[in-house]
Amino acid sequence: MEGNTKQDIRKLSLEELETFFLEKGDKKFRAKQVYEWLWHKSLKNFDDMSNISKATRELLKEHFDINHIQVDLMQHSTDGTIKNAVKLFDDKIVESVLIPTSKRITACVSSQVGCSLDCNFCATARLKRMRNLNPDEIYDQVVAIKEEAETYFSRPLTNIVFMGMGEPLLNYNNVLSAIDKITSPEGLGMAPRRITLSTVGIPKMIRKMADDGVRFNLAVSLHAAINETRTRLMPINATNPLEDLAESLQYWYQKTKRKVTYEYVIWDGINDDEKHAVALAKFCKIIPSKVNIIQYNPIDEGEFRQASQDAVNRYVRILENHGIIAKVRKSRGQDIDAACGQLANKNEVAAL
Ligand code: SAH
Repeated sequence: MEGNTKQDIRKLSLEELETFFLEKGDKKFRAKQVYEWLWHKSLKNFDDMSNISKATRELLKEHFDINHIQVDLMQHSTDGTIKNAVKLFDDKIVESVLIPTSKRITACVSSQVGCSLDCNFCATARLKRMRNLNPDEIYDQVVAIKEEAETYFSRPLTNIVFMGMGEPLLNYNNVLSAIDKITSPEGLGMAPRRITLSTVGIPKMIRKMADDGVRFNLAVSLHAAINETRTRLMPINATNPLEDLAESLQYWYQKTKRKVTYEYVIWDGINDDEKHAVALAKFCKIIPSKVNIIQYNPIDEGEFRQASQDAVNRYVRILENHGIIAKVRKSRGQDIDAACGQLANKNEVAAL
């Protein structure tokens, strides 16, 4: 390699690393040893690779960097939630969240710096999308939270949700490659059914996931099952209407036999009436599904307000009457802006 621009070693597959060692006259199995240090053990320095000779470590240093993320700021909520502001190798910041419950510890991770979709109720949408995260940057967020779960709760990380900043299906290859590492024995060895990818619902990409035979769970941020309302909330619905979304979900179910979760916020005067609840119940019948009703987390003084408890109860009743499972989720980490839709690098912005 020419010049002083070293490559991020974790961009290499195991096979590419094997080729590198063979070309340098070393043994093929060396690659596996190094790979294990890099992923399974998440080492940040070549010098800590204790079963690798000094000469080989120098060779690696000459050619490669390990671009590890750094937890820049950790905030603790009164409800136990932890938010990490994570600094990337180019000084950009993303956020990830540890959410503890009595049964689970969930890592909520980001897939992009900022977001290009303009959902009107989401703080991340206020940040322009700056770039996709690399697979190792996604993986490292999970490792950081896994370590915090062990340090602060003496419990293992049990679940991962792609519900942080960004739209995972617009960074498809890197998200899948990260999940590959998270689930492989050389990485974290977590079960795919413990992982949920949440999307605004891009029909073309939902079909692709189904074709690729993914084994993780799918959640769709629905928020309205009436096109006019959904387009007002989520402009992407103008070009990807509910009919197309529904067809892609049928395809998903046909191929994967996995039910889908709909995330749904109920806003005062926007979608809190019976008409919207009935439309949701009908949409839920398209394929086996369940609904997570999530509380609105205010992001400013704007037009959106959480619906009344009565309106939420009416939704639950209507859904139940249609035989649909609906859970009302409590908001977590609101006091540190760690709840759904609140991830916006506020501290960084404040520091500017
Ligand atoms: N882009 C993906 C991943 C982000 S997940 C997606 O949209 O699914 C973040 C979840 O929080 C989404 O369901 C989103 O609709 C929801 N959300 C965004 N802003 C919110 C807010 N202010 N209050 C509650 N939920 C919000």
